[in-house]
Amino acid sequence: MATVVRGGCPHDCPDSCAWEVTVEDGRAVKLAGSASNPYTHGGLCAKVNNYLDRVYSPDRVLHPLRRVGPKGEGRFEQVSWEVALAEIASRLRSVIAEHGGEAVLPYDFAGNMGVIQWHSMSRRFFARLGASRLLRGICGSTANAGVMATIGTTTGILPEDIVHSRFIVLWGTNTVVTNLHLWPLVRRARDQGAKVVVVDPVRTRTAEAADWHIQPLPGTDSALALGMMHVIVAKGLQDAA
Ligand code: SF4
Repeated sequence: MATVVRGGCPHDCPDSCAWEVTVEDGRAVKLAGSASNPYTHGGLCAKVNNYLDRVYSPDRVLHPLRRVGPKGEGRFEQVSWEVALAEIASRLRSVIAEHGGEAVLPYDFAGNMGVIQWHSMSRRFFARLGASRLLRGICGSTANAGVMATIGTTTGILPEDIVHSRFIVLWGTNTVVTNLHLWPLVRRARDQGAKVVVVDPVRTRTAEAADWHIQPLPGTDSALALGMMHVIVAKGLQDAA
């Protein structure tokens, strides 16, 4: 008998899609975005639509694999969890014994691990080891620092609120392809008179669909941003409040 299990996409993605999985005899047979969630609106992205193929793929890594031979050759042997954990533990121990805990540098990011595996367990583990401290995902931390310095919070607006915008700048994002749940809201805003500007060196599908495509040479958009900031502040166009 088929049952429908409700869940959410585990990717570290702001869309946080709600999904419904049809399960028959213990096997997931269908995955679909929830139609009742207004943001998911019945659709998952291209990355996740075929998730079930991956879940049941023969290529899926289900056991610890140890590299044999040089890096890049792609040769691995299957080992048990006991062997894998013992080897990792003994190498961590020998590094710590020789150089101290700070010789261990934890570097990871959220991926699809969620709060428990990513944000709590690993931090405790590495704190107990006395490992070096790092802001973990380097790219996200840099972006967060920039946003904090600029607007004082990393909390953005509700994506649904974009329908109230009259001027939408999509800077370096191919929204049509990579942010499909936002695009219908951009279109709604446009239907209500908003102008859509895309800043991207590439003539993407989003750029094709925009009112105005600004196509800077790669690496020069910082100058464009600084120039815009200068004009905005010099002319007092910002809403200071
Ligand atoms: S857009 Fe894709 S990755 Fe993001 S939450 Fe939805 S299904 Fe997951």
